[in-house]
Amino acid sequence: MELKNFSLEGKIALVTGASYGIGFAIACGMAKCGATICFNDIKQELVDKGIAAYKEAGIEAHGYVCDVTDEDAVNALVATIEKEVGVIDILVNNAGIIKRIPMCEMTAAQFRQVIDVDLNAPFIVSKAVIPSMIKKGHGKIINICSMMSELGRETVSAYAAAKGGLKMLTKNICSEYGEYNIQCNGIGPGYIETPQTAPLRERQPDGSRHPFDQFIVSKTPAARWGTTEDLVGPAVFLASDASDFVNGHILYVDGGILAYI
Ligand code: NDP
Repeated sequence: MELKNFSLEGKIALVTGASYGIGFAIACGMAKCGATICFNDIKQELVDKGIAAYKEAGIEAHGYVCDVTDEDAVNALVATIEKEVGVIDILVNNAGIIKRIPMCEMTAAQFRQVIDVDLNAPFIVSKAVIPSMIKKGHGKIINICSMMSELGRETVSAYAAAKGGLKMLTKNICSEYGEYNIQCNGIGPGYIETPQTAPLRERQPDGSRHPFDQFIVSKTPAARWGTTEDLVGPAVFLASDASDFVNGHILYVDGGILAYI
């Protein structure tokens, strides 16, 4: 029996919102396994910083400015990538936002904004890449979900609603397009050290740990926050031929916290 391999040689990956943080780490890991990397971000300044960071890591990434909530802009992005680089084999829907506001203090506009970026955008970008994946005969879509795809928590009503919806969109893409050799899976990161979560690790005025930081470390069997590198292996697996019969699942990469709380 031949072992299916983890190489991404010859594959083209689009990772959204990947100038830094989780998307950047995943893209770097995929590049090390042979993939050509395309990424977008919402501001030119971020794209420029991203291109420089990839260069420093020895990667020639193709960076584009694109708001993933804008369907016309996303369609134009995918057409440009297909023309300049080639048909996308791997899509990672990574761009996301969070607003930590108690539900009754949140405006409907704020709620909609989170749903727009965290749920509507993965729908828009997936819809833009699937037709070419069907023609090419294969495709991998990885949706970056969250533990909040499973849980509710104070102040994250919109985020939990969006990420819960993203879990179900993942299952639906699997059901609808699995017959075309398209696998759509999700990764549910636990609490990861990124700029998004930096405020939750800030020391208190008396030098003690932030109460949330204490909570995470005490409730995670691994007894630590995750790092962006922790997500790379699972993402490469889900992007590679090794996962060709894995479809419609969410792989939680959380140090065990979901099993414990
Ligand atoms: P961020 O969530 O801060 O950002 C990801 C990138 O997406 C940023 O560069 C951001 O730009 C960009 N972005 C935001 N809105 C748009 C848009 N409309 N169009 C294009 N790009 C956009 O980084 P993280 O690395 O923390 O998170 C990555 C993903 O992982 C997100 O989906 C997040 O929800 C998820 N996640 C993160 C966890 C964590 O602990 N950090 C835990 C669980 C899930 P800008 O900087 O301008 O906002």
